[in-house]
Amino acid sequence: MTDILKLGARRSATIREAMAIINSTGLQLLLLLDDDGRLLRTVTDGDLRRTLLAGAELSDTLEALPPIESVTAPDAITRKAALELMDRHEVNHLPLTDEAGRVVRVLERRDIGPPILLSTPHMGEAELHYVEEAFRTNWIAPLGPNVDAFEREIADLVGAGHAAAVSSGTAALHLAVRILGVKPGDKVFCSTLTFAASANPIVYEGGEPVFIDSEPGSWNMSPRALERAFDAAVAEGWLPKAVIVVDLYGQSADMDALVAICDRHGVPVIEDAAESLGARYKGRPSGVFGRMGVYSFNGNKIITTSGGGMLISDDEELIKQARFLATQARDPAPHYQHSQIGFNYRMSNILAGVGRGQLQVLEQRVEARRAVYEAYRDGLADIEGLEWQPEPDWSYSNRWLSALTIDPEVTGFTASEVIRRLAEEMIEARPVWKPMHLQPVFAHCRHFAHGNEPVSDRIFDRGICMPSGSNMSLGEITRVVDAMRGIFKGR
Ligand SMILES: *Cc1c(COP(=O)(O)O)cnc(C)c1O
Repeated sequence: MTDILKLGARRSATIREAMAIINSTGLQLLLLLDDDGRLLRTVTDGDLRRTLLAGAELSDTLEALPPIESVTAPDAITRKAALELMDRHEVNHLPLTDEAGRVVRVLERRDIGPPILLSTPHMGEAELHYVEEAFRTNWIAPLGPNVDAFEREIADLVGAGHAAAVSSGTAALHLAVRILGVKPGDKVFCSTLTFAASANPIVYEGGEPVFIDSEPGSWNMSPRALERAFDAAVAEGWLPKAVIVVDLYGQSADMDALVAICDRHGVPVIEDAAESLGARYKGRPSGVFGRMGVYSFNGNKIITTSGGGMLISDDEELIKQARFLATQARDPAPHYQHSQIGFNYRMSNILAGVGRGQLQVLEQRVEARRAVYEAYRDGLADIEGLEWQPEPDWSYSNRWLSALTIDPEVTGFTASEVIRRLAEEMIEARPVWKPMHLQPVFAHCRHFAHGNEPVSDRIFDRGICMPSGSNMSLGEITRVVDAMRGIFKGR
C-alpha cells in the first residue's frame, strides 16, 4: 500500500510539483487536500495535461484545476461494493476515508483481485499431451485408447478389478441402479445428506428412495439409522434393492459398519464416491467398499475431465453389463438388434485423455486441498462456535470441500449470514447440501433418523462449504481467513 502522506498536495502546490509527486509514486494519482487534510479531489496526469493545454503554466498552482467531485468511500467498504463503485465511475483508484473525511488509504483495482471461487478445475501438465494424441490419431469417439487406459489406471490406483468410464457420475450411478435390478416400486436406501444426483437415478428406474440420516462423527450415513430402516423394512415384509452410501465432501462413511448391516440382509451397496476420489478408509482407497463404486469428474470435483464419471467393481460381469448398457445395448448380431433399452453414456476418448493427465496429479491435489483445510482450521482455531467436518480415525479425507458448522448462539452469526458476508468480500462459500428428505421433489419419501432429531437437518442449518480449490494461492487462503476473522471479530 502506498504511503498516503506522499500522495497529498495542497492547492498552493504548483503543477510542476504535482507532476513530480505523481511521477514519484507508483499510483499515477495525487490527492488534493484542504488545510484540514480532507480530500478536495483526486488529480491524475491527464488532469494536469488538460489544464496545461487549456493555457495554464507549469508554475501555476493547483488552484487552476476545476473543482470536481471525486469518488471516495468509507474505509470499511466491502470488496464487492468497492469494485462496483469503481466500475460505475470508470476509475481504477478509490480513496478510502475515515469518519473525519481524511483519506486513510487508496484502494487500487488490482488490490481487489478476482473473486475466490468454491472449487475450480486445476489442470496439470500431461492432459494436453493425451488430448493431442487423440487428435493426432483421430480417436475422436466415445471409445479409444485413452478410455481403455483411463479405466485401467483408475482400477489399478484404487485396487478395483474393473472400471467403466462414462459421461458423468450420475450416469455411473444410473447404470449401477439399473444393473442391480431396481424396478418400478422397488425401494432403495440412500444417504440423505448429499447432492440430488445420488438419489435421482433411483427414480429414473421407477424406484422409491428411502433416505437415511447422517451420524455426527463423519456427517455420513449413520449405521444406527440404517439399522432402524432395515428393522422397519423387515417388520413390514420388504427389503430395499440396494443401498447407496455417499462419502460426503471427500470423507468416507463408516463402510465396514454399513456394509456389515447390508450383508446381513443380502442387500448390495453402491458407494457414491463422486466426491472422495483419493481419500482412504482404513488405509484403502475410498470407493471400493460396495458391490459397485462411482466417481465423478465433473468440473468442480477434485480432478476433472470437464464432465465424466467412472463405475468400478471387482465383478467383471457387472462392468461388462455397464459398458453394454452405456453403448446403446447393442446385441452381438450382424445387424442392429436390441433386446434391452440402452443409453449413450460412454466417455469420449478426448476427455479420457484429460482424465489420464489429471490422475497423475491426484495425490498432489489431495495434499493441496488438505492444506487449505488445515490453514482454515489453524487460522480460525481461536474462534469459538466453529466445528469442522470431523475426520474419524479411520478416515483420510481428500477434503474436497472444507466444510464446517457455525453455532449461531456462540458466534452470533447464522451460516447464511456468513455466506452473505463472504460474498460481499467476493469469496464464494456455499451452504451444505440440503438433505434429500427436505427436498420438495422427495417430500413423499420416507426418512430414518439417527436419533430423535435428524442430524443432517442440523448440519444443513448450520453448515457452510468454504472455497477449497487445490489451485488457491497462499494469498487467497489468507484473504478467506482474514474475511472470516473479520466477520466473527466484528472488524
Ligand atoms: C457430483 C456428484 C454426483 C454426480 O456426478 P456428476 O459427474 O456431476 O454427474 C453424484 N453424487 C455426488 C455425491 C456428487 O457430489
